Amino acid sequence: MIDLIEKLKETKDLTDEEFIRLLTMPTAVPEALFPNTPEASSHPSGLLPLNLEFTDDEESLFSAADEVRRQVYGTGVYVRGLIEFTSFCKNNCYYCGIRRDDRELKRYRLTKDEILKCTDEGYELGYRTFVLQGGEDPFFTDEKICDIVSAIHAAHPDCAITLSIGEKSKESYQKYFDAGAERYLLRHETANEEHYRVLHPAELSLSHRKQCLYDLKEIGYQIGAGFMVGSLKQTPEYLLEDLHFLQDLQPDMIGIGPYLTHHATPFKDCCNGSIAMTLRLISILRLMFPYALIPATTALGTIHPKGREYGLSAGANVVMPNLSPTGVRKLYSLYENKICTGELSSACRSCIERRAASSGYQLVVGRGDVAAH
Ligand code: SAM
Repeated sequence: MIDLIEKLKETKDLTDEEFIRLLTMPTAVPEALFPNTPEASSHPSGLLPLNLEFTDDEESLFSAADEVRRQVYGTGVYVRGLIEFTSFCKNNCYYCGIRRDDRELKRYRLTKDEILKCTDEGYELGYRTFVLQGGEDPFFTDEKICDIVSAIHAAHPDCAITLSIGEKSKESYQKYFDAGAERYLLRHETANEEHYRVLHPAELSLSHRKQCLYDLKEIGYQIGAGFMVGSLKQTPEYLLEDLHFLQDLQPDMIGIGPYLTHHATPFKDCCNGSIAMTLRLISILRLMFPYALIPATTALGTIHPKGREYGLSAGANVVMPNLSPTGVRKLYSLYENKICTGELSSACRSCIERRAASSGYQLVVGRGDVAAH
């Protein structure tokens, strides 16, 4: 494995067969790497020890990725203040806790003033990037989104505004861009058509989601793609297709996190994704895309108490503390036991700063644009 890791570090690429070998090498973490496949052995999620053990090969992969990340970005960790501004969604993705068909879920929308209050608070805390994320909520027309984006831009012209509000027309994306949004996060979820059909109802299409990413890129956004690790029926071969799709797309940001179950979805009986596989993929992505902005996600922090610290050590260089008003955080319940739902934004900041420092990294105050690529 050491030779493969070295090759990936030097050439940023491997043959398909080599990628599969890396994706399927054994782990020392007592869990199944591909939990939601028929081949999986038992997967005791939630019972992992606080200090995880890894094989020598896993450790070598993490340290190669960390070395590359340090060469490009040093030990800085970029912070993005996350504002989850609507939990209404017109889509019905089978894995997602805010899907349309969950009639029990109490939904919320933030007003423009509430969103601006969040960005003001974030600015005080030193954040220079704000991520506005939400379900696909028709209430927020293009006009409303542009109005909110322009208001944030006027109040904080030195900050980058990121949108993560799903699939829209190219015209809409252009309008948001003209209003001042510069970055867009849209995970492709899976690059394989068959797998996409396992995860989504018929009215959603992979080709449209991919087209959205190419449209966003053409407009001039810094774009983020990505996927859940361990979603139902995800195999090494599907992951290989994800890697190839990312090679073609060359996104600026790559967001991955473990799939986590939610009791009110059709996937309620699935197992959570594997932390070992998530960390392995963070490292592989860092070696393939040295310039990329890769977050240690909230889902990674939810699956294990030190998940985000492990993520940073495996090559991640972004954290996304929650800036939403405390009263609504629990309602943006994509999955069970989501962390950071009870704290004040200031507490989230110091918590995340402590966590980064404990792994030898420091939070950076700044927009945190992507490195040249
Ligand atoms: N509506 C926007 C979109 O479609 O991109 C943004 C909101 S969507 C809830 C944000 C991301 O949450 C999705 O891209 C998906 O990868 C992730 N997500 C949803 N349900 C999840 C789950 N059960 N476990 C882990 N991640 C999940």
